[in-house]
Amino acid sequence: HTEDIKVLLLENVNKTGQDILRKQGYQVEALKSSLPEDQLIEKIRDVQVIGIRSKTQLTANVLKHAKNLIVIGCFCIGTNQVDLKYAAETGICVFNSPFSNSRSVAELMIGEIIALARQFGDRNNELHKGIWNKVSAGCWEVRGKTLGIVGYGHVGSQLSVLAEAMGMKVIYYDVTNLMGLGTSNQVHSLEELLQHADFVTLHVPEIPETMNMMSTQQFEQMKQGSYLINASRGSVVDIPALISASQSGKLAGAALDVYPNEPGGNGEHFTNDLNTWTEDLRNLKNIILTPHIGGSTEEAQSAIGVEVAESLVKYVNFGITSAAVNMPEVSLRSLTMEEPNHVRVIYIHHNVPGVLRRVNEILGDHNVDKQMTDSRGDVAYLMADISNVNTSEIKDLYQSLEDLGSRIRTRVLY
Ligand code: NAD
Repeated sequence: HTEDIKVLLLENVNKTGQDILRKQGYQVEALKSSLPEDQLIEKIRDVQVIGIRSKTQLTANVLKHAKNLIVIGCFCIGTNQVDLKYAAETGICVFNSPFSNSRSVAELMIGEIIALARQFGDRNNELHKGIWNKVSAGCWEVRGKTLGIVGYGHVGSQLSVLAEAMGMKVIYYDVTNLMGLGTSNQVHSLEELLQHADFVTLHVPEIPETMNMMSTQQFEQMKQGSYLINASRGSVVDIPALISASQSGKLAGAALDVYPNEPGGNGEHFTNDLNTWTEDLRNLKNIILTPHIGGSTEEAQSAIGVEVAESLVKYVNFGITSAAVNMPEVSLRSLTMEEPNHVRVIYIHHNVPGVLRRVNEILGDHNVDKQMTDSRGDVAYLMADISNVNTSEIKDLYQSLEDLGSRIRTRVLY
């Protein structure tokens, strides 16, 4: 019953998300801050659902007390505050919101492209110090310039459309063959992109292949007097190489929103204690440094609230794991479980041989309408819609599945 579902929301989860969960009839308790570990352990015992942002640490030690917990919603992008593996192995599904802020990042890129082309950051800093320095040398319109987008995913493709609207020519490089939006064109290598682009923006994931993807050799391949913008992840750019390219004049400017080491919170200092080259970076000309704000807008926060809350509802009510961070993605579209004598069985189990045969022996007493199963590492997820189940049989069905040695968690939804 939806009214039996207890939800704990920490860290001031956006109201858009709270409203969706309350509308389901769930019992929602929403707190403004995160909780220290001892209080968190007390509270988490009771609830089936928890929603957090980046500060709440859901370690194995905390999660082992969460006997009723079935799902965690991270109302943010990152999920390293959660022990994802432990959660999966104890049948707790984790969701986040990776794409709600793509538009915000793309818009910031547009602002930065123009700001770099006009040396806006330097002029602004100078005049704040009382220095009037009117310059046109080395300042450009962006119309007709070539933007090279590296990684044509959610952010890169949005940016492509916005840049073309300003009259830029767009080329992009991606490991996947993708259809270009508007009149943009895919190029075959990073080198080809770097040779032709006046502005290069990076929108690739942080994976081993993208580590220091922009280093000395790549800066050499860029056009003289071109610009680099990185709002992907700090590890993608070799910063000492960027500093050299900037000092030599190869780069006319750069904007960075992300760094290999970032301060833990607001107010902490961005100094050489964090990264050995921080001071050198701060002293460069025409370099815009922002504190990882690419996705930080009111719109993105409210979109995150909606996206994560909807994932939680789909999981609680229907067992759907689409876009889960730590579980196989399983979904059956028709919800026949809402009809009389129909139930949906969710069986999360260890990925070992022979389980499906034993599960199907149990389900086989009824009529299996649909079934889907998938695995991810050691954890497998089975969803089956079955009919001809009397209410009196549900308990037995549940217990037989619970008794199988491979079981992590069983749910029967009806
Ligand atoms: P996405 O997954 O939608 O797109 C990434 C694209 O990069 C994909 O098309 C993929 O095929 C491509 N790619 C992967 N490896 C590549 C490689 N080696 N070379 C070329 N292309 C490669 O991701 P997204 O949502 O567009 O995000 C892009 C990046 O921006 C991520 O690193 C994300 O973490 C970061 N991001 C930062 C902020 C911020 O606040 N600064 C906000 C949102 C996203």
